[in-house]
Parts: sequence; structure tokens; C-alpha cells
Amino acid sequence: MKSKNIYSKILRCQKCFLHKPLCICEDIQRLLYANKIKFHFVIHRKEWITTSNTARIVAMTLSNKEIYTFADGNPHEHLDLNKLPNDPNKTVIMFPLTGLEIDVDVDKKNLSENAKINTENITDIIVPDGNWNNTKRMAKKLHIAIKAPFITLKSDRLSKYRLRKQPDLKFLSTFEAVVQAIKFFEEDVSKSHIENLFDLFDKFVDRSLWVNGRILEQDLKYPLDKTAKQFFPNKIIHL
Ligand SMILES: [Zn+2]
Repeated sequence: MKSKNIYSKILRCQKCFLHKPLCICEDIQRLLYANKIKFHFVIHRKEWITTSNTARIVAMTLSNKEIYTFADGNPHEHLDLNKLPNDPNKTVIMFPLTGLEIDVDVDKKNLSENAKINTENITDIIVPDGNWNNTKRMAKKLHIAIKAPFITLKSDRLSKYRLRKQPDLKFLSTFEAVVQAIKFFEEDVSKSHIENLFDLFDKFVDRSLWVNGRILEQDLKYPLDKTAKQFFPNKIIHL
């Protein structure tokens, strides 16, 4: 409780939702990327306000995107499905349900003919985001509404998202999945940009764990500067 009282006095950044001394928005700004394929983030109403949400963070690194709130049952907050792209030949829903499976570690030239034909015309990617059950429900509803197929991006990467329990390490967080999509779909993206995005993700996880008292200072990959430290003098680690 003691540590909670200390934190409650420190304001959170209104963009990245981390406490202001830990804010990563400058890093995010540096990585702003002019993506050609448009990302449409459909974020569950309950998910949007959580501090551990990764869709909000990765969306800030993309200049070509739209963000919608999914709140079925509440027409005032729920997205207008008519605003989503409506050409099912050019749009995919990124979610691991039956559909096209793409291995992002395979060179595009070596993809199967089916995968080549189905990915080269894609202009829009819809990314449903919420907890596992909500996202599954949302993905199905979006599929029924706009007829776009599902796409699953496979890779050898194991998730480094440690803020919530996941059913399997192969289930990537939305941030990691979107970076894999950028790596696969964006022709001009550099290898270093992809690495920088994953570094940003690690920093976000690092700092969120620190706020929750779930990581020791010496285990932080991105050390805190003096300003950040002076705001956290009595941190209690609950391991
Ligand atoms: Zn921030």
C-alpha cells in the first residue's frame, strides 16, 4: 500500500499511460513510420483504458492508421462498421482463425503461389484487440460484417510480453504481431527499424514491470535516468 500511495501522486502520461518520469513518447515519436498498408485497430472498450495495452503503443508508431472502439451493446461508443474498408480482396483481419498462414521469416520470393496471390493486393489490415475471448468474438463479428479473410502471421519469435499471462508464448501481443506484419508487408522497411520497434516494446514491458514492482532495478534492460529514479525511491519489489 505504501508504494501505491507514492505512485498515486505521480501523473501518468496521457498518451503512453506510463508515469510521466517513465514516459516513452519521445522514443515513439522517433520511430514514426509512414506505412503504405493501412492498419485499422479495432480495440475493445475495456482494453483501451488498460495500461498494459500494446495496440495503443504500436499504433502511435504508424502514420497511416485508424483507431476504432468496439463496444457492441453500446451504440454511442461502438464503431461504425461502414467506416471499415469494404473490399474483401484487399483487406485482411489479422487473427489466428482459419485462413491464410504466412511465415514472416520466409522470403517473399519463396512463398507459395497461393500466399503470393493473396498477399500482394492487400492494402488494409484490420487488427482486433482485446483479451483473448473478446478478440476472438470481435474477429468473427468483423469477418461476418465485411467478409474479409483472416490472416495469421507465423514466426519463430516467442513473445516477450510479460505483463499478462498468455495461453502460449507463440501467441504474440498485438504490438509484436503488428511489427511482424510491417516486416512482411512493407517493402521499404529497414531491418534496423524492425529491431528498434522491438526495442521500444521491450522498454515498454520493462517499465510497466517496474511500475508493478515485478522487476529488480538491475534486471532492467533500459536503466532509469535520475529523474525517473527520484520519483521511485521506496519501490517495493514483490517477486
Ligand atoms: Zn508518454
